[in-house]
Amino acid sequence: MPSIPRLTLNNGVELPAVGFGVFQTPPDETRAAVAAALSAGYRHIDTAAAYGNEKQVGEAIAESGIGRAEVFIETKIWISDFGYDQTLHGFEKSAAKLGVDQIDLLILHQALPSEFDRTREAYRALETLLADGRVRAIGVSNFMVDHLTALLDKATVVPAVNQIEVHPYFAQRDVQAFGAQHGILAQAWSPIGGITFYRDSGHASALEDAVIGGIAKAHGKTPAQAMLRWHVQQGRSAIPKSTKPARIAENLDVFDFDLTVDQLAAIDALDTGRRGGPEPDAVTLADFGMPIPEA
Ligand code: NDP
Repeated sequence: MPSIPRLTLNNGVELPAVGFGVFQTPPDETRAAVAAALSAGYRHIDTAAAYGNEKQVGEAIAESGIGRAEVFIETKIWISDFGYDQTLHGFEKSAAKLGVDQIDLLILHQALPSEFDRTREAYRALETLLADGRVRAIGVSNFMVDHLTALLDKATVVPAVNQIEVHPYFAQRDVQAFGAQHGILAQAWSPIGGITFYRDSGHASALEDAVIGGIAKAHGKTPAQAMLRWHVQQGRSAIPKSTKPARIAENLDVFDFDLTVDQLAAIDALDTGRRGGPEPDAVTLADFGMPIPEA
């Protein structure tokens, strides 16, 4: 089983450099996927209220027999639960579904740019949950520089993490640099470019990129492993998703080789500046505000 290096958040809490994502993993496949991940050695699972599979994530962790303190659980508050009281209740829903008293990292899934006061109130609830020991760290996701700036203006706790789309075709260096200046860890979603091939994003698949393929081959590794190694060497947290046990294990087997400076630069040069996911400024309750069920 690979030994996974750890990253230290701005409040001293540690998390494994590579974790496991479950976006689009159907609830009835989630227990098996998380069980496979835990037996492959993952100790960080990233889910979200909006994924509809927190309950199955919690069941798989409980059934694994691995101690609660050994597994880092991250989940996200959906925009329909933004607002101070609503977000406190959102935590209760997630904790109950996950079957835990404390969540390791709780983040806001998106900013609501057109209703930023509500976003701020949601973040204030995360600060309360942190002060009360209900969560060990708090953060955000899909926050751009202007959203982070507006949040930091009133926040008392600097977010530990900003989970954003980062893969070789879309690196968001401005957001990463702003985060680095303020002690906010960049956590890469779609780290192997999933969004470039599972959705029509106008990108070719990063897995089929000739540059990435050539670098992977030079190390006897796969394109997915070369991309994950790029994240690890650049100090990001990465959370690849798969439902297939062989790929789940493959994606964690990235700690026995090093990309050269030139190889890192060659991957950096693939950035197109074009995102695959939704435009963060276009996220509104009217279009995306599906309710999150009670536990
Ligand atoms: P990934 O970059 O992890 O790619 C996942 C896709 O790649 C799936 O189609 C998977 O298929 C396939 N795959 C996985 N491993 C391999 C491999 N070794 N070789 C070939 N194909 C592979 O994309 P995601 O978008 O899923 O992002 C990862 C995680 O990030 C999510 O699960 C979620 O936790 C988080 N996320 C967060 C978002 C946010 O807004 N905060 C948005 C999107 C994702 P298969 O399962 O069939 O193996």
